[in-house]
Amino acid sequence: MAVKIEKIVETFYEALEEGKILGRKCPECGAVEFPPVYACNSCGCLHTEWYEISGKAKMHSIVMPAALSSKPEYKALGKYAYGEVELEEGSRLNAVVRGINKKKRKELLEQDKLPVDCHASIYQRDGYKTVVFDLDE
Ligand SMILES: [Zn+2]
Repeated sequence: MAVKIEKIVETFYEALEEGKILGRKCPECGAVEFPPVYACNSCGCLHTEWYEISGKAKMHSIVMPAALSSKPEYKALGKYAYGEVELEEGSRLNAVVRGINKKKRKELLEQDKLPVDCHASIYQRDGYKTVVFDLDE
């Protein structure tokens, strides 16, 4: 099993280098898992397949990073928060969403704008790429 997990991580990061964001789609029930895992969380099917996600998503909740706990590597992200993000394909995950500061959060909450549209972006970190989200605007 450990080997399988290494392989899935490798394929995921290789695809990011090519500008593709991959999840796993279940051939049995159609559920898409992101971040990719082998087994379908909806029906338990073990034969999920690679699937390029559209990147369209909605942000359902916003949690500001605590000033003291924010890691230096996140400084380069600029304004960001954590949030529960739901992909168009249906999976939900906790993710970093850029473009949100305290003022923006207040505005979104006060104007009852959640869930707000966002989209996945590939972000270059030190030596590797990862997936973050940006608000649609
Ligand atoms: Zn399934």
